[in-house]
Amino acid sequence: MTFAIHGLAVSRGIAIGRAVLVASSRVDVAHYFIQSPQIEAEIERVRAGRDAVAEEIRRLQESIIRMGPKEAPHELGALLEVHLMLLQDVELISGVKHWITERLYNAEWALTTQLEVIARQFDEMEDAYLRERKADLEQIVERVLRAMKGADSPIATHSQRPLRKQSQQDLLLDDTVDVPLVLVAHDLSPADMLQFKQSVFAGFITDVGGRTSHTAIVARSMDIPAVVGARTSSQLVRQDDWVIIDGDAGVIIVDPSPIILAEYGFKQRQGELERGRLQRLLHTPAITMDGERVQLLANIEMPEDAELALKAGALGVGLFRSEFLFMGRQGKLPNEEEQYQAYKRAVEGMKGLPVTIRTVDVGADKPLDDSPRDEAHLNPALGLRAIRWSLADPAMFLTQLRAILRAAAHGQVHLLVPMLAHAREIRQTLAHIDHARAMLDNRGVVYGPVKLGAMIEIPAAALSLKLFLKHFDFLSIGTNDLIQYTLAIDRADESVAHLYDPLHPAVLQLVANTIAECRAQGKDVSVCGEMAGDTTLTRLLLGLGLRSFSMHPAQILAVKQEVLRSDVSRLAPWAQTVLESEDPALQLRRG
Ligand code: PEP
Ligand code: MG
Repeated sequence: MTFAIHGLAVSRGIAIGRAVLVASSRVDVAHYFIQSPQIEAEIERVRAGRDAVAEEIRRLQESIIRMGPKEAPHELGALLEVHLMLLQDVELISGVKHWITERLYNAEWALTTQLEVIARQFDEMEDAYLRERKADLEQIVERVLRAMKGADSPIATHSQRPLRKQSQQDLLLDDTVDVPLVLVAHDLSPADMLQFKQSVFAGFITDVGGRTSHTAIVARSMDIPAVVGARTSSQLVRQDDWVIIDGDAGVIIVDPSPIILAEYGFKQRQGELERGRLQRLLHTPAITMDGERVQLLANIEMPEDAELALKAGALGVGLFRSEFLFMGRQGKLPNEEEQYQAYKRAVEGMKGLPVTIRTVDVGADKPLDDSPRDEAHLNPALGLRAIRWSLADPAMFLTQLRAILRAAAHGQVHLLVPMLAHAREIRQTLAHIDHARAMLDNRGVVYGPVKLGAMIEIPAAALSLKLFLKHFDFLSIGTNDLIQYTLAIDRADESVAHLYDPLHPAVLQLVANTIAECRAQGKDVSVCGEMAGDTTLTRLLLGLGLRSFSMHPAQILAVKQEVLRSDVSRLAPWAQTVLESEDPALQLRRG
């Protein structure tokens, strides 16, 4: 039966494919595709994990027998018996084999996928006793996953599975060939997203998340349709269901009828045509109708994204979110050499164009995967994140600074510091940079000059511009956080997503002031939050005096099209009326 789920539209376009549900296991598992020759080895890893847990249970059973009924109650023995039975459950075993063999999921992914399938069957059971066995199943799968952790997959690189291009007709008629897959999850950590970045998913759906949550940001950077904040989607959609993601409208259609499929297939092709048309602007310089040159830069997450940035015609990297190098590593942080190599790859990849490397911004919605989602902190967005985290761990910070300074010997590097608010944080940061240089001098290691920049993403910073302009060469406005902190809206929380408003007069005032002050002092300023890539805001930002925008490579050409159509001499007075308006959104629509 066809039904629709509504969420937040965060990454444009239409995706049509079969649902892959990612179970929310308490054990962190990797999700990647294996290749056919590895199937047997993956099945063997699950078998070895199961055998290890069965052995553990049998040992426990024996010790219970030795203890006697007084010390070990009968229920304990019965429970272990249930666990042993569940471990040998035919459906579990055959299901896991199915996901590995047919879908080429890695062992851990196959196990958690099948757990999800069986858990749903438990949920639907009438009998309360049987329903409660779901928790036992979860426990047992978790133990197998833990047992497998010691025997990681020998597959070093996360392999990709090529997708055959198919027509909508093919999709309906033939289920046995490769079809696009769309990912459905309650939540995805940034580390998870990073893994999926190298995979073949045609779209993403998550129950939670806001417009500028990191799931949304990474989906946009991959330029694939995504809907977040879709509440109960991971419960309503079942493994393998056909799903349409409308990333423009924020709608998910489950089990679509052939007519709906045909309609969305048409929309999908229209979107592709439009993107094709934009390609014609690739080599056109971004200059407004009245001759103002505008710098369009790229936001990247990994050094390899530099290639995408160049392909999209970016004139540099305006934001390299270095924290993605720190994630998904089971808490083992990258050392100086590793970071240096990564930054150097990005710098060399940009072939002489500037690369703005932001120092690590972990915490809040971007946890390192070894820390369980900051649950211990009352208010992670207001807690130890970004520069606060770096200053709390000087050895880690100095390691990163040395690596960035060394990469600067290979090209133009700008060093950007996130989340600064206090004068003493600025002083400490600058002292650490000097210290990192001195350490490299002592070691006789070559390094290069860097321009120093600060992110303006806390209202306190936007209201202390004099201080920032005194110490930094340039400023970059992080509107995602600036909006979050100005309006007291958790950017990752879908329940307050309707209040997340880039056009709130207070937000606009802070953005406009920052641009104006920088221009008055002759300092470079850019916007690197999601506002920069939103084509409905391009004219307004141009009118406010912005000449440097940093965004996901996929958005560059659409923003360029807006720039080419703009006349800033006329936009400037209009932007002032928007700024002074009680309802800037309305004013903006009036044009
Ligand atoms: C921002 O806050 O606008 C920004 C660009 O940083 P991030 O989204 O990584 O927090
Ligand atoms: Mg930020």
